[in-house]
Amino acid sequence: MMQRIDTEVAIIGGGIVGGSAALFLRRQGVPVVLLEAALCGAKASGVNYGGVRRQGRGLEQMPLTRRAHELWGQLPDLIGIDGEYVRSGHLKLACSEADLALLEAYRDRTRGFGMNLEILGRGELARRFGWLGRDVAGGSFCPEDGHANPRLVSPAFARAAAALGADVREGVRVTSAEHDGAGFIVRAGDALEVRSRFLLNCAGAWAGRFAEGFGEAVPETSIHPLMMVTEPLPVFMDVSLGVQGGGIYARQVARGNCVIGGGRGVSTDPDYARPGRAGLGALMANAAKLLPVLRGAQVIRFWTGVEGNMPDHNPVLGPSATTPGLFHAFGLSGAGFQIGPAVGEVLSELVVRGRSSIPVDAFRIERYAAAAHGAAARPESVREQTLESP
Ligand SMILES: Cc1cc2nc3c(=O)[nH]c(=O)nc-3n(C[C@H](O)[C@H](O)[C@H](O)COP(=O)(O)OP(=O)(O)OC[C@H]3O[C@@H](n4cnc5c(N)ncnc54)[C@H](O)[C@@H]3O)c2cc1C
Repeated sequence: MMQRIDTEVAIIGGGIVGGSAALFLRRQGVPVVLLEAALCGAKASGVNYGGVRRQGRGLEQMPLTRRAHELWGQLPDLIGIDGEYVRSGHLKLACSEADLALLEAYRDRTRGFGMNLEILGRGELARRFGWLGRDVAGGSFCPEDGHANPRLVSPAFARAAAALGADVREGVRVTSAEHDGAGFIVRAGDALEVRSRFLLNCAGAWAGRFAEGFGEAVPETSIHPLMMVTEPLPVFMDVSLGVQGGGIYARQVARGNCVIGGGRGVSTDPDYARPGRAGLGALMANAAKLLPVLRGAQVIRFWTGVEGNMPDHNPVLGPSATTPGLFHAFGLSGAGFQIGPAVGEVLSELVVRGRSSIPVDAFRIERYAAAAHGAAARPESVREQTLESP
């Protein structure tokens, strides 16, 4: 028999975005039902690299990332655990003088957003980070960026929302969502029907199909960043590392394991991706070049995930252009772990106050309106990926 629930806000997807939206709504006492097809935080939000970094983001994301930085500083208050979050610093390396000039220009452009970027020359790098490989021309250091354990942090947002009274339902796949003129009707097969005044589309790499159902087709694709983790090693690295232009990034956790990302996995199914043989050798070789101390270390696991990606590598975040009461937040393009809590807070403000306290106009879904598709949907090669890139 079909179960029917009436609520104020229905949320599709229990990743860090949907989970934090539910949490911020419950903190204001708003009734919420969150529907998650798998387990909360089990998709991109729980399998990512764990980089909590502002450095490298575009100017349009600066207010959002700055607010997220404040929220990360309150993590135990928000979700009841520290999530192994450390402000280790994020060091972005330049492999050439030209790349170093790009890092300097980025520092100049983003002054005033509190990142306090320090440009380091070759000598300074060698002195402070003697474990680095020799092929670096310099770097940019963001002292308060860091990293965290996504497996702990991401599910904890939905859990904290549930503790405040959100109705969080896992293993519930939404099969249809529509507006009947009076409100939203969200169904999970013939088992559950949720009726709500507001609907938040937080379905990650699967959100595009819901947007399309409301007449807002978007060019969302999936990406599958490739990751690996080594056996525990003596602790040598106390920063999270990236490289200008992308390609490889690495961090070491307190237990000594090095978590390293670079390249892509493979996917033949919209719901699933796995490491492909071709990418593994390149990732290991690049890691050993960047960090010679890794030569001979054992890799204990490779993995990847399914992440929603937009052509301009900015999220879709804000009100629907077709359906009042519908808000989208998806396509975080390989960089949504850090901004996720701020995205959730923005969604709660849009529901409660009709506007957000930080500007999100650059992320409106209208930028992908049919006429703009040609301009927006540039091929991957034209724009650099945000995952550890500017
Ligand atoms: C391997 C990898 C490495 C990354 N590294 C970083 C990093 O270092 N730093 C960073 O900031 N970001 C990183 N990211 C990106 C970051 O993880 C994502 O941007 C972020 O987690 C997206 O959160 P989300 O809640 O939008 O999506 P998800 O976590 O994917 O959540 C969406 C949820 O919606 C659910 N769902 C989908 N369809 C339905 C349906 N029909 N009914 C009900 N539920 C549904 C899914 O099951 C899923 O749980 C990485 C991503 C990956 C994959």
